[in-house]
Amino acid sequence: MEFIAFTYVGNFVDKEIITDVLFNVFDDANRFFHQNEIPVRFLYIGKLELEPGYLINLNTPEGRIRVYPLEALVEVLYSRLLQEINEKEDIKMNKIFALTTFPLVSRNPYFDFYEKFLGIHEVITGLRIMILSMKPFEVPITPDDSPHERRRKLETFKSRLLKGILHEVGHSFGLEHCNNQCVMHPPTNIEDWDGRIPGYCDECLLKLRAAL
Ligand SMILES: [Zn+2]
Ligand SMILES: [Zn+2]
Repeated sequence: MEFIAFTYVGNFVDKEIITDVLFNVFDDANRFFHQNEIPVRFLYIGKLELEPGYLINLNTPEGRIRVYPLEALVEVLYSRLLQEINEKEDIKMNKIFALTTFPLVSRNPYFDFYEKFLGIHEVITGLRIMILSMKPFEVPITPDDSPHERRRKLETFKSRLLKGILHEVGHSFGLEHCNNQCVMHPPTNIEDWDGRIPGYCDECLLKLRAAL
C-alpha cells in the first residue's frame, strides 16, 4: 500500500464546507481506491497554515485580491512532507496533496490565472507535491437556498472535487490525458466536468494498477 499525505490550506468562512465536503471527499477517494483495488490511500496530516507574510497582492478583472503564490506554497508543502516521511518511516509515502480554498496564482505573470481547472505538480528530489484549488469547482450557495438545494449544491461541489483529485492522482502515477469517459479526460468547461463519471476508464485503470 502506498500513502499520499493530504492537507488543506486556507481559511474557511463556512465551517460546514469542511465537514460536508473536504473530509468526505477524501473518504470518498479512499473508498474509490478500495473498491477499485488500487493500493493507494490518502493520509490526513492536519491543516496547514501559511504565514501572512507570504501573501502577495494581485490585480484581477474582479479587483485586487490577496493570495499566496504557488512558489511559497510548494516550499512549505515540501518541508511538511519531509517531516511526515521522517516521522512515519514504516510506510511508503513520497507524495503530498494539498487542497486550497484560494485560487492558484504564480509570480509568473503568464500563469493561466483562473483558467486552471486542474492542479499543479512539482517534483523535488523525488518527492511529489500536488496542489489543487477548490475555487474553480465551487457551487455558489446563497442564503435563499432551501436546505435541499444547499445539499444538492454541496454534492455537486464534492463530486467535481473528487474527479479533480482522481485526475491528479492519475498523473502522479504516470497517467496521461485520455479521450474516453474518464477523469483523465480534461474538461473544457465545468458542465463538461459535471458530465464525466467519477472514475477511470478501463485503459487508465489498468495503467494505474500496473504503475502500482
Ligand atoms: Zn491533467
Ligand atoms: Zn482514461
